[in-house]
Amino acid sequence: MARRISVTMLSSYLYCARKLFLERVLKLFEPEKLALVKGSIRHDTIDKASQFEEEVVRSVIEGDDYESIYNKYLAIYSKLLRESIVRNKYRLKTVKLPLIEAYNEIIPAFKQHSEMGALRLYKFVEENKFYGDELWEKLVPKIKSEIRIESPELELNGIVDQIEVYPDGFIPIELKTGSMPNEGVWPGHRIQLAAYALLMEEKFGKEIKEGFVYYLDQQERRQIVMNSFLKQEVRELKDKVRVLLNGEEIPEFTGNENKCKKCGLREKCFDEKILNKLLKEKITN
Ligand code: SF4
Repeated sequence: MARRISVTMLSSYLYCARKLFLERVLKLFEPEKLALVKGSIRHDTIDKASQFEEEVVRSVIEGDDYESIYNKYLAIYSKLLRESIVRNKYRLKTVKLPLIEAYNEIIPAFKQHSEMGALRLYKFVEENKFYGDELWEKLVPKIKSEIRIESPELELNGIVDQIEVYPDGFIPIELKTGSMPNEGVWPGHRIQLAAYALLMEEKFGKEIKEGFVYYLDQQERRQIVMNSFLKQEVRELKDKVRVLLNGEEIPEFTGNENKCKKCGLREKCFDEKILNKLLKEKITN
């Protein structure tokens, strides 16, 4: 049976096929980076928070104003952020960031998330006058997070960050920290969402027409419209990744200086002697 390819491998391949080979085939790993650790704490907190969305919504009663809904969101984010920081304490130690500083640096982003959540919910309450359980029943869309999907048919697997559930369909949302392109989304993010759309179509039996990348640092959602070319691109890319993982040749350099400057594997990547030794060991084992 063919080994399933994870969706994140597709975007890693697009970013730098050589890096994917170094990590997955030669088992070389980048040292921890401050931005990466902070990004994954933030990501983890948001994923967990959407599981509490129902609790927040059901707790809204008549007379709650914007401020009180904002405080409900912030209390959840603040608790989950502290828990995530504790879970990541060893990674934070590696990048020399004390836990309290990590909290102080990340919490402003969650104040913004609380504002957005409270605004959306308060508007819905004001317009519809639903509260508590009824509010939860009527609220559209509902958000599901961290949905694991795999498909023997597509030979792909992955975890969708968030899915917005509407009465007539589903929209996948991918959460990203870091930079955002001037227009549209980065190629890797586009292919990731398209792959999730394919997986979701198979799982839910409904066509997925669009998806969004939510760039957390910029607080901006960017749309991707699905089409058959994009889906075909996913299938072709998956085959290329399979060839790379089974291959015995180190792919070429990415040719993008900016990527190499930021890359934690750059020293080893440019050391042909080390790489050839590791490759030889892999082939003979
Ligand atoms: S140094 Fe450049 S070519 Fe090498 S793995 Fe990193 S990004 Fe790819």
